[in-house]
Amino acid sequence: NSAGRKTYFIILFMAQSSFIELCRKRVGNAHVISVPEKMASYVTDYRKRYAGKALAVVLPGNTREVADLVRLCKQYRVPVVPQGGNTGLVLGSVPDTSGKAVVLSLARMKRIREIDVKNNTMTVEAGCILDDVHSAALEADRMFPLSLASSGSCTIGGNLAANAGGTAVLRYGTARDLCLGLEVVMADGAVWDGLYKLRKNNTGYDLRDLFIGSEGTLGIITAAVLKLFPRPTTRQTAFVALSSPADALQLLAIAQKVADSSLTTFELMSGYSLELVVRHFPHLLPPLPLERPYYVLLELSGTEPEGQLGERFEKLLQYAIEEGVICDAALSQTVSQSRSMWALRENISAAQAKEGKNIKHDIAVPTSLFAEFIETTDRQLQQYFPGCRTVTFGHLGDGSLHYNVAAPKGVSDDAFLMRQDEVNRIVYDSVDRMQGAISAEHGLGALKHERNAEYKSDVEIRMMRKIREAFDPDNLMNPGKVLP
Ligand code: FAD
Repeated sequence: NSAGRKTYFIILFMAQSSFIELCRKRVGNAHVISVPEKMASYVTDYRKRYAGKALAVVLPGNTREVADLVRLCKQYRVPVVPQGGNTGLVLGSVPDTSGKAVVLSLARMKRIREIDVKNNTMTVEAGCILDDVHSAALEADRMFPLSLASSGSCTIGGNLAANAGGTAVLRYGTARDLCLGLEVVMADGAVWDGLYKLRKNNTGYDLRDLFIGSEGTLGIITAAVLKLFPRPTTRQTAFVALSSPADALQLLAIAQKVADSSLTTFELMSGYSLELVVRHFPHLLPPLPLERPYYVLLELSGTEPEGQLGERFEKLLQYAIEEGVICDAALSQTVSQSRSMWALRENISAAQAKEGKNIKHDIAVPTSLFAEFIETTDRQLQQYFPGCRTVTFGHLGDGSLHYNVAAPKGVSDDAFLMRQDEVNRIVYDSVDRMQGAISAEHGLGALKHERNAEYKSDVEIRMMRKIREAFDPDNLMNPGKVLP
C-alpha cells in the first residue's frame, strides 16, 4: 500500500544519506560527489551514448581509503564501479541506471611510488595517467611501451583492468605482459600486497593474471609494478600501399624475418578508412596517393645507430617490392614525417565518428586467417546489406582488427543500427568459425558480455562464474559486467 511504499522510501533515503555521510568521513567532504549534475561525467560513457546513475562518486586518496570504502560498501551492500580515466569503450566503467552503485574513481591516486632502474621496474598508483607514466620513465632514461590513442586520459589501473593492447603489442605485449606485480583491494576490504618485481614466480596460482583483464569484477587495483625497457634511440616509420589483406600478411612475414625484434608496429588500414580521414581532416596529407585498397603503417625502432636501422628498413621494403607484395612505399626521413603518418592512423576513429554512426567490432582471429576473415565477412555482409561500408583497420601484427560497419548510402544510420544484432551475428559467427575472440582488447563490460557468453563453452563460463563467486560472493564488484 502507499503508506508502506512511503515508509520504505524514507528508510531507503535515510540509509543512503547515512552511507554517503560515512563515505565523507572516510575520504573527506571534498572527495564525495552526490549532486547529479556534478556526477554526469562519471556516469556517462566515453562515446556519450549511455548515461547511468550513481548514488555517489567517491575519490579516495590512498589504498587505505579504498579499503575503508570497500568495507563500507560491503556493510551497506552498495555495488562498486571502479573507474580510471573512463575511456573504456564497452560500458565497463559506468554504473547502470538503478542509481544504487557508487563510482569509485582512482583519479586522485597518481603517485609514482618508485622507479628502480637497477631492476628496470616502476611502481605506480592505479590513477596515474598513461602519458605521465611514459614521461616519468623517459626521465629515468627508460621506456614504458604501452601505447594507446587514449593515453592522455586513461590510467594504469584501467589499462590493467582492461588488459589494454594498443600499437606496440607486436613487440612488447599487452598490459598483462608489462606488469610484474599488483596491489589490490579485495571485495571484503582486505589489501593484497602483490607488488613483486620478479620476472619468475611459480609459487602457486597466478593471482596477478586473474586481476588483469577482470574489468573491476574481482577487486580494485590500487598500484602496480610495471616493466621498463631501454629507451629506443632510433625510430622510423613507413606507409605502404598494398592490393589485399593477403599481401599484408606476406609483408608481415617479411618484416618479421628482416627486422626481427626491431619491428614495433604493424597496423593495417583499408583505403576507405583513410579516405574518411582525408575527407574530415583535410590538413592530414597522406604520403602516397590513396589509390589502393589497403595500406600498412610499419614502424621499426631500436638502440642501434640511425643509419643501420634505416638500411634494414630500406632492405625490407626493397625485398617486398621485388617479391610483388607491396605496390608503393614512403619511408619517413624526419620525426615530423613519421608523426604525419601516425596522424592518419590515429584519426581513423575520429573521422568515422564525423562520418556518422556505425556498428563497431574489436575482434581477434589467428593472424594467418585475417585475409580469409575480411574476405568472407565482407562478402556475407554485402549479401545481406548491399552497399554497406566497412571501415577495417587495426593491429594486424598482433592479430586484432577493428571491423566497423556503416549503413549503405541512402539508408539512415538509425535505421541501420536497428539491424545491429543481424550485423553482429554475421561478424561474430565468422570470428567464431575461425576460433577467434569477439573482444580483442576493449573487454566485455556491459556491452558484450551476453554475446560473449553465447560463443564461449559452458565449461568456460562456469569456471569464470566460480572465480567471480570466490572473489566476490556478494556480487558487489562491478556487477553486470563481464558475465551476464
Ligand atoms: P576505465 O575506462 O575507467 O575502466 C575500464 C575498465 O576497468 C572498467 O571495467 C573499470 O571498472 C575497470 N577499472 C578501471 N580502473 C580500475 C582499477 N583501478 N581497478 C579495477 N578495475 C578498474 N584500448 C586498447 O586496448 N587499445 C587501444 O588501442 C585503445 N585505443 C583507444 C583509443 C581511444 C581514442 C579511446 C577513447 C579508447 C581506446 N581504448 C583502447 C580503450 C581504453 O582507452 C582502454 O581500455 C583503457 O585501458 C581504459 O583505461 P581507463 O583508465 O580509461 O579505464
